[in-house]
Order: sequence, then C-alpha cells, then structure tokens
Amino acid sequence: MEKWPVGVFASIDAGLGVKLDVARELGVPTVHLHTPHKPSRTEAKAREFSAKLKEFGLRISVVFAGFEGESYADIPTVAKTVGLVPPQTREARKQELKEIADFAKLLGVDAVGLHVGFIPHDPANPSYPDLLAVVREVCDHCRGNGQRIHLETGQETADALLQFLHDVDRDNLFVNFDPANMILYGSGEPLPALRKVGAYVRSVHCKDAKWAARPGEEWGTEVPFGTGDVNAEQFLRTLVEIGYDGPLTIEREIPQEPHRQKAEIGQAVRVIEELKRKILG
Ligand code: MG
Repeated sequence: MEKWPVGVFASIDAGLGVKLDVARELGVPTVHLHTPHKPSRTEAKAREFSAKLKEFGLRISVVFAGFEGESYADIPTVAKTVGLVPPQTREARKQELKEIADFAKLLGVDAVGLHVGFIPHDPANPSYPDLLAVVREVCDHCRGNGQRIHLETGQETADALLQFLHDVDRDNLFVNFDPANMILYGSGEPLPALRKVGAYVRSVHCKDAKWAARPGEEWGTEVPFGTGDVNAEQFLRTLVEIGYDGPLTIEREIPQEPHRQKAEIGQAVRVIEELKRKILG
C-alpha cells in the first residue's frame, strides 16, 4: 500500500468533519469517519454508506466515536462531558461504543477511535479502576470484531497516556496521535510526546495549533496545518523515526465556516504532498 496516503476527517450526519462529497472533491483516498447518529447505524445504512464511499473512491481507516452531551467548549467542560470518564454516562457510553464498533465492522473498518476523556491522574482515584475495567471490556468486544481501539491524544501527557495503556493491558489498544491537541490542552511538546508513545501510534491527525498564554488553563488556538507551533515538517520526520507509514488525516474543526474549512484543508493537502516529496523523495 502507498505510504502516508492523505486523508480528511469526515462525517455523514453527525460530527465536525467535512461532508463526504467535500472529501471526494479534495481528491484524497482515505477518511476518518465520525460515527453517524444512532438511527443511521443499521445494516441497510452501512450498505448505503459503503456504496457511496466506493463510488467516491474513499476508504475509511478509522471510525471515530462521539457521544450525545459531549462539549469541547472549554477545558473544564471537556473534563465534565467527554468520553468514558464522566461517571454518570460511563455505562451507557460503554454500551454505545460497542454498538459503534459493531457498526464500524459492518463498514469493514478495523479501528475505532475516541477521546476517552480526562483520565484521573491519580491512580488511587476510585474512578480509575472502574475506567480501566470499562476500557478493557470495550477492547475485548472489539477484539471479537477483529478491531483495534485508538485513543485520541490531548488530555494527557505522554507519560500519563503510557501509564494508562500499560494499566489497561490489552494488545488491541493503540493511539491516534494528534499533535495539535497536545498544544491545545497544554499537555506537552508534541514531538517528544510522539517519540514516547510512538510504538502505539496507529493513526494520526494532521492538525495544528498555537500555544495559549496559560497552557492547560485555557485553550490554545487551532490554526491550518503547517501554520502553527506543531512544525509540520518535523512532525512528518518524527513519523519516519517511529516507523509510521499509515494515513495522514487532516483535521480542521471549523464546520461553521465550510468554505474556509474546505480551502484550508485543500491547502493542507498541498503542504503534505510537498513534504512527502521532500521527505520520502
Ligand atoms: Mg484529533
């Protein structure tokens, strides 16, 4: 397979990614698909989506889970609402995540990505063992489907993420590395973090950001790939170092401005193609 096929984050009826017809117009071969809403997760819809993807020449490399009630408004709101960490929704979301994995299987996709949420940093927190048990159960469900789970980076430092992966102790648990999230959340310099978790990286987001004045307390600012503090060329060179040759999936979360979003993703495609020529020769 081609090394580093370009991709975009896309969605059908839910989530922030570009629509599938925009992905087609961008001419990229792969997408990360935000899971469609629950009523669309049926066999008939899976056949319909698969036919459309085939017609558009698109392959889904990862299906990303998302849940009702999640909000990325600010960092404390993420901690309260996102992923499997909030205790009041943990059980229901665990069930839904299994359903999303089953839907991904209907689409023929062998990886499910998600933001697990702000993992408690103190393993003595009573929530920690319960969270481990939930993630193990979902990993085991996915194993039955022949699937991996990819944890999106951002809320944790690389060391905390490594600890969590170690503690879950499942061999189908991996990482979707998003360098911009490290900056947005203020959880560490992205490239040293990428080297640390490199052995677990099975998918990536090409997203860029600028550091906040008070990292970790307030959001950094998301900017088009190649124009922020990630350093796009060094990011790709670090992917060579860790031996990553999977898709380079562009993420640009400004769905309220679809024209600008498409233009900036198109620009990111050109940045990546140029860097691929430079780095891979
Ligand atoms: Mg991301």
